[in-house]
Amino acid sequence: MIYGLFGEHEFTKEVNEILEKRGHIRDDENPEFVFSIGGDGTILKAIKKYQKQVENIKFIGINLGKLGFYTSFEKKELEDAITLVESGQYELAKYNLLEYLLKSKNLYKSGFGLNEIAIINPVHTQIIDVYINDKHFETFRGTGFLASTPTGSTAYNKSLGGSVIDPNICALQLTEIASINNRVYKTLGSPLVLSQKTLIKLKSDFRNTYITVDGMYEHFNNIDEIIIRLSTRTAQFIVKHETDFWDRVKRSFL
Ligand code: NAP
Ligand code: MN
Repeated sequence: MIYGLFGEHEFTKEVNEILEKRGHIRDDENPEFVFSIGGDGTILKAIKKYQKQVENIKFIGINLGKLGFYTSFEKKELEDAITLVESGQYELAKYNLLEYLLKSKNLYKSGFGLNEIAIINPVHTQIIDVYINDKHFETFRGTGFLASTPTGSTAYNKSLGGSVIDPNICALQLTEIASINNRVYKTLGSPLVLSQKTLIKLKSDFRNTYITVDGMYEHFNNIDEIIIRLSTRTAQFIVKHETDFWDRVKRSFL
C-alpha cells in the first residue's frame, strides 16, 4: 500500500517502522491510506489536510487514549488494523462532509467540514436572517449558529442540545447558539434536522465573526452571506466489523 501518516507522536514513528518493514511505501502527498494517530481532533485535521483528494483516501484512525469517535482502532490493535488493510477485506464507513460558502462583495470562500461549522459573534448580538431553500424562515438574534453532520452530532452540536443522529441518515442539523427571544425577535428554538438537498442561507452584516470548522477558526469582518449544505462528498474510514455507533455513544457518554 501507499500510505501517509498523520499525528505527531513517538508512536507515529513506530507505526512508520512497522509499515516500512512490511514493504509498504510512504507518500504523504498522494497516499491511498492515511493512518491518523491521536484522537478525533487529529482525524479532523487530517481531513482538512487532504480535503481536495479526500475521496481517494481511506482513513484508519488509531486512538491514543482519547474519546475517539472516528478512531476505530486502539493502539494495541495496530497490527490488526494493518493486517486488515493488507487483506483488502475491510469494512468501509462513508461519512458525508458538509460544505459551506462565505460570500461578500470581495470574498468568495468555500470549504468542507467533517463535524460542523459554527458561526459565532462573541461580542455583540448578531442579527441573522435564516433562509431555507431560498425562502425566509426566521430572523435570529443572538450569538450564532452551528450546522453539523450526523457524525458531528455527538460533538459541539450535542453540547448545544442538538440531537444525536445515526450516521446512516443523510442529514444536516442546524442548532442555535444563545438566541434572544422577545417581542421583537422570535426564533423557532428547536434544532432543525434537514435533508441532504436542503440549502441553508444565513444573511447578515457579519462583523467580528468567528467561523469555526472542526475546531479550526478564522476571524472575519466582511461576510454578507453564508451558505451551507450537506455535501455529496464523503470521508471514508476503515472500521472494525463490530463497530456500532450506539455502543460508542453509550460508552462515551453514559
Ligand atoms: P478539543 O477541544 O480538544 O476537543 C473537544 C472534544 O470533542 C474532544 O474530546 C474530542 O475527542 C471530541 N470530539 C471531536 N469530534 C467528535 C465527535 N464527532 N463526536 C464526539 N466527540 C468528538 O478539540 P479537537 O479535539 O480539535 O476537536 C474539535 C471539536 O471540538 C470540534 O469539531 C467541536 O465539535 C468540538 N468542540 C466542542 C465544544 C463544546 O462542546 N462546547 C466547543 C468547541 C469545540 P478526542 O478527545 O478524541 O479528540
Ligand atoms: Mn482533541
